[in-house]
Amino acid sequence: MSGFAIRGWCPDAWHPMAAGDGLLVRVRPRLGRLNRKQVLGLCDAALTFGNGMIDLTRRANFQLRGVSEAEWPALIARLVELELVEADPVLEKKRNLLVAPIWQEADDTARIAAELIARLGELPELPGKVGFVIDAGPVPVLPGEAGDFRIERAAGGSLILRAQGRTAGAEVTAGAEVDRLIAMARWFAENGGPEAGRMSRFTAELPEWAQGSLLPARGSCPLQPGPTSTGAAWGVPFGQISALALARLITDPAATALRTTPWRLLIVEGAAFAPVEGLVDDPADPLLRVDACPGAPSCPQASVETRALARRIAPQVTGRLHVSGCAKRCAATGRADVTLIGREGRYDLSGEGRERLALGRDKVLALFGAG
Ligand code: SF4
Repeated sequence: MSGFAIRGWCPDAWHPMAAGDGLLVRVRPRLGRLNRKQVLGLCDAALTFGNGMIDLTRRANFQLRGVSEAEWPALIARLVELELVEADPVLEKKRNLLVAPIWQEADDTARIAAELIARLGELPELPGKVGFVIDAGPVPVLPGEAGDFRIERAAGGSLILRAQGRTAGAEVTAGAEVDRLIAMARWFAENGGPEAGRMSRFTAELPEWAQGSLLPARGSCPLQPGPTSTGAAWGVPFGQISALALARLITDPAATALRTTPWRLLIVEGAAFAPVEGLVDDPADPLLRVDACPGAPSCPQASVETRALARRIAPQVTGRLHVSGCAKRCAATGRADVTLIGREGRYDLSGEGRERLALGRDKVLALFGAG
């Protein structure tokens, strides 16, 4: 089957990526929210067409894995029917936006994001990873998340348009935010931005209307497991949950909808907060400080197992831990205090003064007192 995205592109549902265990199909819920029917439909699709596991991405999207090329057309049809994927592949590719997950009905974030989605057809063709961030709540919550063209709350309370890589932005009047986002995307597309790849690498002088000196307001900490203003939040270890477990979350009679976040946390609207097997309910749980890619045997590029090892040693690491199956470091979310990188069946260790090369698994466990 031709037309699948190659590595380095940003795959979407219409352009899935071939992984070692089959196709990887990305699902981008509108405004990061799924109603009960959509959640159950997504879970059923993961069980029917994929391997039954669902990944959460750093862009607050879902990924189904293990999909065969033969079954992909039926999966796409199901996702379109559920209104989780645009029927038009061109619009689906353009719908690359990250919204502050704790938006409230009809607030600025919801209003701007909904208008941008309604006007996707006005956007130019952009490089695959180029996307938008709508973070217009009272306090920014996405300052640490990448996104090329951003609407954010300024320290003085107004909304600003800010290009990634620029420290300050220009004030936008209420109702003109999407006009400005579209104008900036067009300016980027028409002035050499695609050659730079991302806005953060594009150093051209911004058009006058996009220049400003307003700094984004100081951001708040990302959410933690517990009750939130929109529902109960649970951490998802390694950003992977089984379809059965996800379906169970939404079958609570009080649960009305699910929200995704870029922090490996799920929020269930209406649900009461209580311990759920397999999910993290304690903000101090060391698993919240761990990044680990699927590793071996799931990924053909991995020469070592990752997640079971990470679970064993995480309690012994004080800061962030990153365990990677190879040097590509797909799961990295920023700076880690301790890093283990797989190489030829062994682990290279760095951080906290423990630099050691080519360690066997038992040696790693012993070094962390987890043997
Ligand atoms: S870091 Fe390497 S082993 Fe891990 S998922 Fe990426 S390519 Fe695979």
